[in-house]
Amino acid sequence: MIKYNLKCINNHEFESWFSDSNEFDKLNKKKLLECIYCASNKIKKSIMAPMISGTKSKKDSIQPLNKDLSNKKKDLLQLRNYIEKNFEFVGDKLSEKAREVYYNKKTEKGIYGTATAEEREEMEEEGIDLLRVPWASKDN
Ligand SMILES: [Zn+2]
Repeated sequence: MIKYNLKCINNHEFESWFSDSNEFDKLNKKKLLECIYCASNKIKKSIMAPMISGTKSKKDSIQPLNKDLSNKKKDLLQLRNYIEKNFEFVGDKLSEKAREVYYNKKTEKGIYGTATAEEREEMEEEGIDLLRVPWASKDN
């Protein structure tokens, strides 16, 4: 089982459990997922991108993403492409990998993936910075 942070088109955030990561895509494609607040079936997965401590320059290079983040699909797709190109995708192993990076500084590369609300809180308590990224879908 995997828990995802989901977001509807009206920016309501909620969590939902899935048997695996494919199940989310399958259900969402069939529009079987709906927002618990407004019943919209335009649901996105909120993907977490951790900002890894260490080199200051890396942190600085991420800031513009944050600042200019708008909800325009074009911009969000650009952001997604940027992250896909520059970060390593670790899926639901985000908290595990973020700790590896944070404590061992094994890699210079940033990582992104999904985390549960509990994992997110734990990481925040440990001082691991995370940036939550609205994840634009490439189709439609
Ligand atoms: Zn909603």
